[in-house]
Amino acid sequence: MSATIPQDILDALTDVVMPRLPAERPAKETIAVRGFAIPVHRSAALVLGSGAAGLRAAVEMKRRDVDVVIATQSAFGGTSACSGSDKQTLHTANGAGRGDDFSAMAEALGAGGAMDEDTAYVEAVGSLRALASLQFIGLPIPQDSLGGVLRYQTDHDETGRATSCGPRTSRLMVQALAREAIRLNVPIFNHTTAVRLLVEDSPAKRCIGALAMAPKRRAEANPLGLVAYLSDAVVIATGGPGELYRDSVYPRNCFGSLGLALEAGLEAVNLTESQFGIGTPRDGFPWNLSGTYVQAMPYIFSRDSHGNERNFLADYYRTTQELASNVFRKGYQWPFHASRMLGFGSSLVDLAILRECRAGRRVFMDFNRNPLAVPGDREFALERLDPDVRAYLASAGALLEQPLDRLRKMNPLSIELYRRYKYDIARDPLEFAVLNQHMNGGLAVDSFGATSLEGCYAVGEAAGTHGVTRPGGAALNAGQVFGTRCAERIAGRPGAPSPSPAAEAIHVAVGSVLDGLKADSPLTADSIRREIQDRMSDHAGILCGAADVEAALASARALNGAIRRQGIAFSGAPDALKALQWRQTALLSEAVLTALVFYIARGGGSRGARAICAPDGAHVPEARAGAIEDVRFVPERAEDRAEQIHVRLEAGGFVCESRPIRRRARDARPFFERDWPDFLTGAIYDGALR
Ligand SMILES: Cc1cc2nc3c(=O)[nH]c(=O)nc-3n(C[C@H](O)[C@H](O)[C@H](O)COP(=O)(O)OP(=O)(O)OC[C@H]3O[C@@H](n4cnc5c(N)ncnc54)[C@H](O)[C@@H]3O)c2cc1C
Repeated sequence: MSATIPQDILDALTDVVMPRLPAERPAKETIAVRGFAIPVHRSAALVLGSGAAGLRAAVEMKRRDVDVVIATQSAFGGTSACSGSDKQTLHTANGAGRGDDFSAMAEALGAGGAMDEDTAYVEAVGSLRALASLQFIGLPIPQDSLGGVLRYQTDHDETGRATSCGPRTSRLMVQALAREAIRLNVPIFNHTTAVRLLVEDSPAKRCIGALAMAPKRRAEANPLGLVAYLSDAVVIATGGPGELYRDSVYPRNCFGSLGLALEAGLEAVNLTESQFGIGTPRDGFPWNLSGTYVQAMPYIFSRDSHGNERNFLADYYRTTQELASNVFRKGYQWPFHASRMLGFGSSLVDLAILRECRAGRRVFMDFNRNPLAVPGDREFALERLDPDVRAYLASAGALLEQPLDRLRKMNPLSIELYRRYKYDIARDPLEFAVLNQHMNGGLAVDSFGATSLEGCYAVGEAAGTHGVTRPGGAALNAGQVFGTRCAERIAGRPGAPSPSPAAEAIHVAVGSVLDGLKADSPLTADSIRREIQDRMSDHAGILCGAADVEAALASARALNGAIRRQGIAFSGAPDALKALQWRQTALLSEAVLTALVFYIARGGGSRGARAICAPDGAHVPEARAGAIEDVRFVPERAEDRAEQIHVRLEAGGFVCESRPIRRRARDARPFFERDWPDFLTGAIYDGALR
């Protein structure tokens, strides 16, 4: 990127101002339940969450004349609005230059295994429409002079399908979509967090809305700020479980609602699959350190409690060239991947950082120093880099002496961004760690985003649509594509109207909320948070062992037992909401660990974000000093790629089941005259497999 771009242009890419929300519409009804006067809102559809995925679903429904409302914990909170990276990526079919092949893109999306083939194709074929419609509502996607979208290569992407509006692509998406939602008069209820799905049991089980808490709107007759939303279709777009791990790069207070959905009996899938990678922790400015941050090849070192520095990567790599080139490769091999620890690959960097942190040392990157030499080898030199690394830097015009010059040349915004958060990476070394970043699994959905509960959909990170790996930018694409798909299904196949007044479902939900809250319980939201986050980071991160995960599961079960018996302490509405969110997170953590134990017990090996370590594992990462025996790991089994692990809550315990992935009829070719009637009659919406 040229350093001569005017500052106001750079500023517009980083300071993304959100639109003002219109006044909230008042409820027309109130229901009395257990002494509370609870406002009731009715609509044809309810979207929970206002990230990029939820806003997309709402806008697409409203454009199809569906009476839709949004209830959201924080209108411009969540991952889409508040996180980013060097070049935050959107992954779509590559329309520019050579064109693309949707089948090939679907193959690439599912290449890591455990991804439904129809989902992969839906995401591939829907991606161009998602991109074009975002451009239509004003997203500044970079183009060349002929209108082609500028592209680059990202993680798990051999074709170069990535594009970006800069470090805050997803925030810009939220801005554009929120403006559109406001323009279309979609009612948005801010500071309103769903705490329980409303489920009708007869004649058949189906979702008829959600009970939410809006502590800011609490009143004497409604001290917890409870609100009921009744609707014929509910779309869960509440994002990922960002509070599950202590070591996390999610913005704060991203709970998602997987626990809420599990509590209501919905099925989840692929909960074993997450992403971990390097970033700055969220007690400072949570940000991914991918792309040019590492392609600039800063000096990475650790510091002990006495301030002594260690060039620890030199314990792992054999030469200075190998060390520097692998730091560079973290730019587009950002997520930790077990197999990349082998052969002195780039995930050895993540492993080394994790081991330093576990040894009580803090890890930094310094843009004012080149990587220090591996003992016995020559100093770092631009002439001694692996050919792919040198070629990239040459093309970027960044074969410059210091990391800071290289970073400034390739991406001046990256320095500016930290400055805005009061951190000058041009001056001071930047502390970072290996952090949890994304949940690839989530609620099990069909190819329109419908969950296992009638009337309830899930889109965005809440949906378990990704497989073991996902190309960078595929998360944002999936949210847009499935937001559109579920809107089409809801508009094309409206559900039965919600019953009036749905009193029983509301009573059950309020009862469950109140039963979980006990003012004098010894369990507090804070103690539960610490226990869950420590357990997940220490025992279910990138390195897992069978016995360790089993012990973690036993403790997670014990915690849930205690929560069921004793409830969670609270004082006041905001506290009560936190308590309920931690109750749901405790359930989710048990679900993740149950799935992990199930996977390992069946012989599942290392894949994606996790190395399954075992003393008799067939693979062992090598370091300069020899094999790292305590990280010996079990290889992936090919057959696991064709299956997914489904998890659901049954009679108070989690049940796992392995099922084959949904296959796509690859030879089936659409034929216009034959298939058009299915579109005209809406029969296409019935064809989704679950
Ligand atoms: C540091 C970082 C960098 C990333 N970079 C990329 C990238 O380059 N490319 C990519 O594709 N993906 C990336 N991701 C992942 C991607 O940003 C997320 O998966 C995506 O933004 C999720 O969008 P969403 O709309 O599903 O959820 P979110 O944007 O998280 O929105 C969730 C919404 O739901 C609300 N909410 C939560 N719980 C409730 C509830 N119970 N009731 C009502 N409302 C609720 C929240 O307040 C929020 O409004 C990155 C993630 C991180 C953390």
